[in-house]
Amino acid sequence: MLYKKTLRELLDLIDKREITPKDVYSSVLNRIKQKENKINAYVCVFDEFEENKVKGMLSSLPVAVKDNMHIKGKKTTCSSKILKNYTAIFDATVVEKLKHAGASFIGKTNLDEFAMGSSTETSYFGTTHNPWDLTKIPGGSSGGSAAAVAGGEAVCAIGSDTGGSIRQPASLCGVVGLKPTYGRVSRYGLVAFASSLDQIGPITKNVEDAAILLNIIGGKDSRDSTSSNIEMDDFTKYLNSDISGLKIGVYDKVLPDCSADVQQSMENSIKIFKNLGCEVKSVDLPNAKYAVSDYYIIAPAEASSNLERYDGIKYGFRIDNYENLKDMYIKTRSRGFGEEVKRRIMLGTYVLSSGYYDAYYLKAQKLRGLIKQDFDNVFAGVDVLIAPTTPTEAFGIGEKADNPLQMYLSDIFTIPANLSAVPAISIPNGISKNSLPLGLQIMANTFREDNIFKCASAFEKEFNILDKLPLD
Ligand code: GLN
Repeated sequence: MLYKKTLRELLDLIDKREITPKDVYSSVLNRIKQKENKINAYVCVFDEFEENKVKGMLSSLPVAVKDNMHIKGKKTTCSSKILKNYTAIFDATVVEKLKHAGASFIGKTNLDEFAMGSSTETSYFGTTHNPWDLTKIPGGSSGGSAAAVAGGEAVCAIGSDTGGSIRQPASLCGVVGLKPTYGRVSRYGLVAFASSLDQIGPITKNVEDAAILLNIIGGKDSRDSTSSNIEMDDFTKYLNSDISGLKIGVYDKVLPDCSADVQQSMENSIKIFKNLGCEVKSVDLPNAKYAVSDYYIIAPAEASSNLERYDGIKYGFRIDNYENLKDMYIKTRSRGFGEEVKRRIMLGTYVLSSGYYDAYYLKAQKLRGLIKQDFDNVFAGVDVLIAPTTPTEAFGIGEKADNPLQMYLSDIFTIPANLSAVPAISIPNGISKNSLPLGLQIMANTFREDNIFKCASAFEKEFNILDKLPLD
């Protein structure tokens, strides 16, 4: 049952020569085959084990990669019809770094089309199901990565987070998901959604595995001008810290908007932190209540510009019958993109159009500054900030599919960290009455992932649901 184990456990077994990476690969592949039609976590599974000749610390262990990042020679579809036949011609920097660290790859995971969504229901390749309850969504947009890790179809995975797409599915699937500080990890080779918000990060079974992967994928990259040259750290060294005296802010104004189970799980986590000797106090982010509205101006604006390149000429799908160039553009984009992507393109084009730019886009950028200021104020007084990752447990497939506004509100607690660039992790902190996992979000000041790892690993020692993951 190697597929049940964490990355750390498998690395130890390989070190002791008790197992080979091929054993792990076969165990995970069998699990995928066994669950294939039920979970649909993958857009594409690599059926052949390719040993990595690089003798890196990952010892050829298989990693799953969200299908909006390039692995040279493999398809990158972004779960969109418009890219369904596109083969990547280069490696994303994170993939290159994983290869240099000795990783192998098991497949590309499903996502909401172009990472736009919170449920993985907008994928051209069909929805992913939550392994805890197949009638529920796994969250999104990295729903394939989170469901794969939670269901034993991946040892660990890589996701991307623009407004919550690593943390929200991690929370709803009962696993760990980290969005690093904006600029910590290179975005080169990640298909851009909203460039000023997108960030790549790990989705894993536990906090230690997240630290191992962040060590590998982080760092300055000359091919991404927004990647930071701040020195990388060894984040595993923060894992067993004593956190007594750590100052924790609780963003508790939002709790009345959460389900009773989420409120209860937050109360339990506060108790755990107090028992660990932390100083816990309530804090406010007065402008965070505008974060969702702000995000739905900024993200679509950037998306409308980034998605301009899918025109039927440069990449992917082109309609067969058309009258002239303009007709080809219109028909290709109308039929190549799904509803949600087109909604975002229209919204983004509108807020950027002359006459509306000042009223919407510029105003949204100013508001983004105020939200960032709120975080600066909070982190002047506390080391970390905690909040729920999501207001509710996983909802039913189809339940919000026709209600974009309801869907957008699933990210109410995750979006502020993207707008203000700060790092944030989601770790399991409870199981609801309906037997679904709930997540705790821990945020820290920019480039203070050390505080996140200290706090998350101490919490995980007191409370974790590893033995309850749906792995049988
Ligand atoms: N759910 C949010 C959206 O639809 C965030 C997606 C993401 O982080 N990629 O835009």
